[in-house]
Amino acid sequence: MAPVVIIGGGFGGLYTALELARRPGHPPLLLLEPRDRFVFLPFLYELLSQELPLWQIAPRYDALLAGYGIGWLRDRVVALDPDQHKISTQAGQTISYSRLVLAWGAELHSCGVPGVLEHAQGFRSLADVERLQALVQRLKAAPRPLQRLVVVGAGPAGVELACKLADLLQGAALVELLERGPIALPQARSFNREQALLALQRKDVRLRCHCQVQAVTAEGLILGQGEQLAAAGVIWTAGQRSQPPLGISPGAVPCKATLEVEGLEDVFAVGDGAAVAHEPPLPATAQVAFQQAPLLASNLLHSLAGEPLENFQWKDLGEMLSLGIGEASLTGLGFTLAGPAAQQLRRWSYLTRLPGNSLPLKVAANWLGDWSANPLPR
Ligand SMILES: Cc1cc2nc3c(=O)[nH]c(=O)nc-3n(C[C@H](O)[C@H](O)[C@H](O)COP(=O)(O)OP(=O)(O)OC[C@H]3O[C@@H](n4cnc5c(N)ncnc54)[C@H](O)[C@@H]3O)c2cc1C
Repeated sequence: MAPVVIIGGGFGGLYTALELARRPGHPPLLLLEPRDRFVFLPFLYELLSQELPLWQIAPRYDALLAGYGIGWLRDRVVALDPDQHKISTQAGQTISYSRLVLAWGAELHSCGVPGVLEHAQGFRSLADVERLQALVQRLKAAPRPLQRLVVVGAGPAGVELACKLADLLQGAALVELLERGPIALPQARSFNREQALLALQRKDVRLRCHCQVQAVTAEGLILGQGEQLAAAGVIWTAGQRSQPPLGISPGAVPCKATLEVEGLEDVFAVGDGAAVAHEPPLPATAQVAFQQAPLLASNLLHSLAGEPLENFQWKDLGEMLSLGIGEASLTGLGFTLAGPAAQQLRRWSYLTRLPGNSLPLKVAANWLGDWSANPLPR
């Protein structure tokens, strides 16, 4: 039997593969993922600030998948041939599948603004973290009046990143947060938005709403009415979009509530790359991908057995925001909390979401060791 092939080992793809591997009598599984490490993106800010080490946030796939019976090909899919049930990879392989899962997530998208791809950086990968750490070090080593870092997009990623950068820079550069809409965090719960605005104020992050970026240049940004804003670095969190391989249109792939891709037989999609029929529309979050994974694993098995499929039911578990070093805000399951205790709670609740069996245990042991040495929240 041809394997179930999963394209992309992020939240949607990896957690679907792990779920399937736990089901008795599961089909052969093949994960295609070009990177060597899974990245637990909600902790990327803690990696930037070195509050958490690399091994806890970005475990290697070979260690994660050992013993699960999941094949892993470190390769990128470049084309799909759904009629033949085949995919092609960058390294020149052609692979047949019985069922295919599209889990390729999303990447930085310029939203049509010139210069973004050339002069701005994203915040989604380990390479992005390394670049930003180097930039922070450079700015701290040579503080100059009026040097600034600009974060574009005041959604959760932009706000969380701006808070962390302000803490790391300790005044060595100004952090500006630009938002084209009328408010920061338009989708957030009101408590979290209030806490975030207070944190931005405390950290002297300059938030500018109604601010449309016209272009990014080597020197900084061009804003409305030709205003020039010099910047030592521009971090673009304003747009993400799926960049599918050949054979699929750009953007998230339209799917039924069963996660079957519209119009493609035996093809399913999950995570940020899936535009699932759902009211209200699903947010592009790890929480959604994490909840889709067990349903998708069941539906893949139902589909192979010729059984009816189930619909995805979204359960909103609330929202957590990291707001600088050692601080967070959270709203969910009927309560709100902010400050260092919220940061501890945020960390421990994500611990249960780390992939695999042994990683959460190792990380918990490490945190308990740290905590017994220093019981006050950091
Ligand atoms: C900084 C940051 C912080 C976040 N914090 C939170 C949070 O606190 N809570 C929350 O719920 N969500 C959070 N999110 C959102 C969340 O991480 C995403 O919604 C989630 O990762 C989506 O999962 P995914 O599997 O669709 O995509 P991803 O996790 O991005 O995984 C996609 C994978 O596909 C691989 N891939 C791409 N193209 C190909 C190809 N052609 N062939 C093979 N492989 C391919 C990529 O290498 C990648 O590993 C955050 C996102 C970011 C960037």
